[in-house]
Amino acid sequence: MSSTKVLVFGDISSDPKTAIAKANTINGGKNGPFRAFIVVGKVFTKNNFEEVNGALQDGSVSVDLPMFFTDGEGLPEDSATNQTDVVDIAPNVTFLNQWGRLMTDDFIIQNATSGSNDRKTAPTDILITDKWPSNLPRLSKVGFAVPQTAERATNNDKTIDATSKDASPLYHFSGSESFWEREPFANEAGKHTRFIGLAPFGGKQRWHYAFTLKKDDTSTPVNATECPYLKEDKVEEEPLKRANEDDGDPMAKKPRIAPSDCFLCLSNPNLAAHLVVSIGQESYMAMAKGPLLPGHVMLIPIKHNPDFCTESRPSTNPRHRHPVRFVSPKLALELRKYQIALKQMHPGGVVFYEIAKAKGVHVHQQAVPIPQEKINNVENLREFFIKEAKECGFRMENNGELRDDQTNYFRIEFPNSDPIVIKLNRQNPKFDVTWPRKLLAQWFFGNKERGDWRNCSQTEAEETEAADKIKGDFETFDFTR
Ligand SMILES: [Zn+2]
Repeated sequence: MSSTKVLVFGDISSDPKTAIAKANTINGGKNGPFRAFIVVGKVFTKNNFEEVNGALQDGSVSVDLPMFFTDGEGLPEDSATNQTDVVDIAPNVTFLNQWGRLMTDDFIIQNATSGSNDRKTAPTDILITDKWPSNLPRLSKVGFAVPQTAERATNNDKTIDATSKDASPLYHFSGSESFWEREPFANEAGKHTRFIGLAPFGGKQRWHYAFTLKKDDTSTPVNATECPYLKEDKVEEEPLKRANEDDGDPMAKKPRIAPSDCFLCLSNPNLAAHLVVSIGQESYMAMAKGPLLPGHVMLIPIKHNPDFCTESRPSTNPRHRHPVRFVSPKLALELRKYQIALKQMHPGGVVFYEIAKAKGVHVHQQAVPIPQEKINNVENLREFFIKEAKECGFRMENNGELRDDQTNYFRIEFPNSDPIVIKLNRQNPKFDVTWPRKLLAQWFFGNKERGDWRNCSQTEAEETEAADKIKGDFETFDFTR
């Protein structure tokens, strides 16, 4: 079986010299040497071209292994870069133009550009595209971090689906603001495609990837899915069909909502993207639809999971066959950071509450700022909840802390006082998921009307304005930037 090691970086144009030095170090380290170094995106900008190219030409900066890059921004607009698919820029530095196809003894790399779906792509080992295939998240269970803001609208392109399908690559890379690795999926060549979206070099999101190309490998990876791409004519109707197919799974005891149909999954093509405020590595923040009051947001794990236990490990007790589920420390830490940032933004206090159910769809935590006129009374809020819970006959846990593997509970955290936990089990059969919001409405405004989000619904223009206000207010507290 032939195998070839390949190193891939996201766009390195912010600091090409450091990135090249890094690649040389990796190549010379314990994982090297690599057969190729691919940069998904730009090496140059108009501002740095002269300096960086000069250093590459005079040898003060050199690349120890063949480097290929796929975005020619910053290159001088001469005839060579306009007319040739593959352009040698400097020793070991090669530009793959928009439809550049490079064939070596070890591999074929194809660079493909969106917007030309009439162009057939021959089978390829490594495919690089400027945008992401639009249906890529279909059938995937991996939380999908859609790039933020302006790039969002232009990041996915249906023409790339056809390109990736035709090329049936073993690896498909695309640049982005954020990192995402999909489960491998079956391709038309009878093998599996791995898609990896890489963030730009040097940022917080992952920007590097190394792999061994196994061209003859026809085995099926354990987490592989079917091909996410559709026939052209089924693009609109297919995602709904898929939800029903899932219901037919004999292993599934209940209907499952797929990420592509989930209101909180970033991979859902119909996501209310205008509500998204901030995206971290494990979670994101979005304005609540039909907010209880201005500033009401939700903290949402990126992973499609009914509770915060997004991870599992084998039980150390040999009599327990089921794995132990737990909250990932990285997720817990990031949610903490969001909470701290929100508390800084609202010095009058924030109430956080969540309902986690093993049979839920996609867990989220509500974050509701205390209204100005209630800040001085906030100490009474906890007592109010306890009184109401007792009246409803709910049994509360002694302390508000949760075991790591906890699910099926309601938990609310108040400013400056201990949290309350109510387990959602036979002890509390009457617990209603709308109860906490109704109580907050009652305490905030003296009546329960705003306790129903439908009474607070806004037009999309109003939502956009309100979300933009939150984005502006949150900007200085946003640790993800
Ligand atoms: Zn989801």
